[in-house]
Amino acid sequence: MKAHKIAVIPGDGIGVEVVAEGLKVLEAAGQKAGLSFDFEQFPWGCGYWLQHGAAMPPDAIDILGHFDAIYLGAVGLPGRVHESVGVREVVLAIRSGFDQFANVRPVQPVAGCPWYVSHRQPEEIDFVVIREATEGFYCNIGGRYEPGAAEVSEVTPMRPAFARSTEIALQTGVFSEFGCRRVIRYAFELARRRDGKKRVTSTTKSNALTHAMGMWDEIFEQVAAEYPDCEHEWFHVDALAMRFITNPERFDVVVASNLFGDILTDLSAVLVGGLGFAAGGNLSETGPSMFEPPHGSAPDIAGKGIANPIAAILTAAFMLECLDEPDAAGTIRRAVAAVVEAGEVLTPDAGGSATTRQVGDAILAAL
Ligand code: ATP
Repeated sequence: MKAHKIAVIPGDGIGVEVVAEGLKVLEAAGQKAGLSFDFEQFPWGCGYWLQHGAAMPPDAIDILGHFDAIYLGAVGLPGRVHESVGVREVVLAIRSGFDQFANVRPVQPVAGCPWYVSHRQPEEIDFVVIREATEGFYCNIGGRYEPGAAEVSEVTPMRPAFARSTEIALQTGVFSEFGCRRVIRYAFELARRRDGKKRVTSTTKSNALTHAMGMWDEIFEQVAAEYPDCEHEWFHVDALAMRFITNPERFDVVVASNLFGDILTDLSAVLVGGLGFAAGGNLSETGPSMFEPPHGSAPDIAGKGIANPIAAILTAAFMLECLDEPDAAGTIRRAVAAVVEAGEVLTPDAGGSATTRQVGDAILAAL
């Protein structure tokens, strides 16, 4: 029997609740498909930080390096631990530790999910957003300065408001030729592999961000020339955001730099019925990839047993696809679709009154 070693980090808040359902469904789908999973759970996150002063132990990356994939719930304990702790010490540490450069978000709504774009039907929408996840404006480069400081002496005279300010903050985006080319090439490869429209859409803003997005546009055109079998097109990010809502059916693979992708992927979550239904993964070509539902720890509903586990369950299906187990993934997707379409066992975010566990059990039964 084929076995996959999966590191499981349930994390905090609803992360713990939804991962429990995801594991249940994974086990059952694995049994049906003749797979076994070797799950090892790690109690890391903000709760761990409160006890140990660090969100993960110092050798966490070494430990995780021995697994085929990482399955993460959510990290964060807003109000108790600063928001940056979970993001920087867990999510970004793992992303950068394994060079997980592509944050991938499938946008494949399931019939029966909450529906916000009434001019389109769920079956018309099937695309993927790929966000570069290691560089751009998330490199944390910059600082806060007094207007007279040497670091801002060149920028202070640029605008009247700068000179009148008590403080000036610089936040530098770093875009590497290699990083842009790698993620754009990944997008074209995916478009070629997918049974879709073979169209890659680039997200830019080179009319305003001339240096970084100018380079991005040039690389996009160069890579597109290597894939004559795929269509390519681009939109400025503001126009693209509008088209996500007005024409979501036109997209196949959308590629974006880190900040633009961060915003667009939350917008794309609306197209699948909200955060309770959105799946995601951070893919690496050199180490384990990490699969996490894009929602956070949702402290407003944590502990109430009403979090929607479908995002985490579809994330598990996506993990199986990336582990080259399409049959087991397909079984999960069909079971989720059956439960959502029946509409009888859904959590409150989806208009139902079921608990997290009841939805997990219903999907298990449909399997
Ligand atoms: P964090 O600080 O950990 O990111 P958050 O409250 O800022 O948490 P999210 O958890 O991403 O942000 O979600 C925002 C809101 O969406 C939540 O407060 C919750 O009401 C709702 N939500 C998110 N995920 C789910 C889910 N799986 N099921 C039901 N509701 C959800």
